[in-house]
Amino acid sequence: MINIEKIRADFPILNEQVYGHKLVYLDNAATTQKPKPVVESIVNGYYHKNANVHRGVHWLSQEATEAHEAARETVRKFINAEKTSEIIFTRGTTESLNIVAATFGELLSEGDEIIVSQMEHHSNIVPWQLVCEKKGARLVMLPIDNNGEISLETLKELINEKTRLVSIAHASNTLATVNPVKEVISIAHENGIPVMIDGAQSVPHFKVDVQELDADFLAFSGHKIYGPTGIGVLYGKEKWLDKLPPYQAGGEMIDKVTFEKTTFNVLPYKFEAGTPDFIGSTSLAAALDYMTAIGMDNVEEHERELVEYATKKLNEIEGMRIYGNAKKRSGLVSFLVSDIHPYDMGTILDKLGIAVRTGHHCAQPTMDFFGIEGTVRASFGIYNTKEEIDILVNGIARAKKLFHK
Ligand code: PLP
Repeated sequence: MINIEKIRADFPILNEQVYGHKLVYLDNAATTQKPKPVVESIVNGYYHKNANVHRGVHWLSQEATEAHEAARETVRKFINAEKTSEIIFTRGTTESLNIVAATFGELLSEGDEIIVSQMEHHSNIVPWQLVCEKKGARLVMLPIDNNGEISLETLKELINEKTRLVSIAHASNTLATVNPVKEVISIAHENGIPVMIDGAQSVPHFKVDVQELDADFLAFSGHKIYGPTGIGVLYGKEKWLDKLPPYQAGGEMIDKVTFEKTTFNVLPYKFEAGTPDFIGSTSLAAALDYMTAIGMDNVEEHERELVEYATKKLNEIEGMRIYGNAKKRSGLVSFLVSDIHPYDMGTILDKLGIAVRTGHHCAQPTMDFFGIEGTVRASFGIYNTKEEIDILVNGIARAKKLFHK
């Protein structure tokens, strides 16, 4: 059980008024709000611990370095990686995926294949497309069914001697599907193929253990787990990170530079060129500590209750069509009502203080599969309540009336 009043009190933004209504924030899959300890960490970082990391002999630089490296350890523990050297700080999921696509891509040859699912966010499609184009490799799509689920049997059929990597979302940002990534990894590994997990919509919502999954790579974003924007994580197994070439070049990632030859730094610094966002990393750690204190099992249970309640209530609305009906789902609902355009629905809800997302949610192939332009998406977080879902349901009823549906 979570103490919802206590949690809500940590998020001052939830008291904002929008067009005279109390804000009902249901856009957590896009980004989450920040609790006081995270904002305080950012402020205190700049007020008391601001000096460039790793290079300084002076006290302040050492303090900043210690905090930055302690944050790496917090991340390691949070996803249960074996070593801190396997934790690379990035700008977010998109950059983490791009790092692997670009560097793993260097190992590809003509005719090689990369498998991604049909429900992926564009950031787990386009980087692979670019690298496939460059290398003459082929991007292979693992299809979804009407419930928004993949088939492990189809995956087995798609894997062949040309397959080099499988990259798949742990949880879909449009359909709420929680993919059986452990089984995907096991099938891929039986064939000697590594797997990249897009954890943008899983790590914030339930316990993710990279060793238990045996994931080769995992990406997630700080801002989707109540942390700051502009910071994220790439986890990679040491054996893979050692094999991959560097991504960006510059300071921090080198060992020795001469005009004849440059040697590279050890992991994880080989992949962290330039001054890292050390205020971001320490404040991400504050967010992860916040989540750990609540308990990820409690987070999962709370959001499951919300999504079950929302699904039941929304299904009572005439003309409601929910997209994504997987057996295992995460905390969001994508829907359309009658023939009301999602933008119109989103605009009416906004006027009532309800923040939902409308459109293709950066997953146009998923929308194409269902033959729609977009959906309305309500996505839940730790501070949301059943009362807020009631407000959403009433708002939809108001919109229906307005459009005579
Ligand atoms: N992957 C998924 C499943 C997402 O939902 C998102 C963001 O919505 C991303 C990747 C990209 O995350 P970011 O924009 O934080 O890099």
